[in-house]
Amino acid sequence: MKILFYDTKSYDKESFDKKIGEYPELQIDYLKSELVPGTAALAKGYDAICAFVSSNVGTRTVEILHECGVKLILMRCAGFNNVDIDKAHELGIKILRVPGYSPEAVAEHAMGLAIAANRRIHKGYVRVRENDFSLGGMLGINFYQKTAGIVGTGRIGAAMARICHGFGMKVIAYDNYHNPDLDFVTYVTMDELLAQSDLISLHCPLMDETYHLINRETIQKMKDGVILVNTSRGGLVKTDDLIEGIRARKFFAVGLDVYEEEKKNVFEDRSDDIMETSVTARLLSFPNVVITSHQGFFTQEALAAISETTLNNAMAFLKGETTGNEVE
Ligand code: NAD
Repeated sequence: MKILFYDTKSYDKESFDKKIGEYPELQIDYLKSELVPGTAALAKGYDAICAFVSSNVGTRTVEILHECGVKLILMRCAGFNNVDIDKAHELGIKILRVPGYSPEAVAEHAMGLAIAANRRIHKGYVRVRENDFSLGGMLGINFYQKTAGIVGTGRIGAAMARICHGFGMKVIAYDNYHNPDLDFVTYVTMDELLAQSDLISLHCPLMDETYHLINRETIQKMKDGVILVNTSRGGLVKTDDLIEGIRARKFFAVGLDVYEEEKKNVFEDRSDDIMETSVTARLLSFPNVVITSHQGFFTQEALAAISETTLNNAMAFLKGETTGNEVE
């Protein structure tokens, strides 16, 4: 089976090259180009393509892939909101993904962001480099004995709940599905979670019903001085309303690994660009906001698990087996 990789970064190639020797039936060619309708035709002669969260696997891309003879889309990530699933299925293209490569990687990053933003570690780092050892503006709060509100207690939310529990926090959560493994968590309504949490961490998927879940109205229901962390998807938070809330001093701190405007930025070095309009720049102008570039998943363990599952997915397709990783 010939697989064409799009959006390949050096670390993707490294982690897949480590594993590919164990799969003599599979051959990979790597492309640095992103997957968009304009580059989809490069897949002519390939059985499968491999794409990532930042790829454009929309209607037109899927149609061109189909014309090229592609029968399988391998997503080397958990999310698939960038794929036109209906079109792919209509054209007989199967989609396989990596549902849970390392939930702890993302959850640990979520707690890292919460701590960095709360204790202003980003400011402390820069200050000390400049021989400025003053503490003004860096006063934080303890997480110990505070309340953590977890929105979505699937794989990553559950890992975050365990971390918060380990910090000695009271953990409450909102999810229609109550995770039986989390006996220390109290499930509440979304309104109760908003009203009671000192730290709110978002771990539900982006869907029509969760788009702009955090908006002016839900922000008003939060405690004053709340800390918000989003490592799930940018579209969960209405950025303009978040900025309004930060300006109104509603938030003690905000940590974002994902944000609405990230599409153009993700994994690119744009340090030489002049940004025309940028909500990201506006968010970064606040002293209590820390932003990272969708790096929650980025650990050695997670990359190894992603390459192994992706290649196993390809093998299962080849053998006509189901894996449970199908995107239906
Ligand atoms: P999961 O499917 O295991 O869990 C999602 C949970 O959200 C489920 O328990 C579901 O019942 C719940 N849910 C659905 N709708 C909800 C709603 N309206 N309110 C509250 N809960 C709701 O998913 P996961 O593996 O834990 O991943 C969570 C999200 O993290 C993914 O959707 C993805 O967007 C994001 N993610 C980010 C990174 C990163 O690098 N930052 C990496 C992987 C995944």
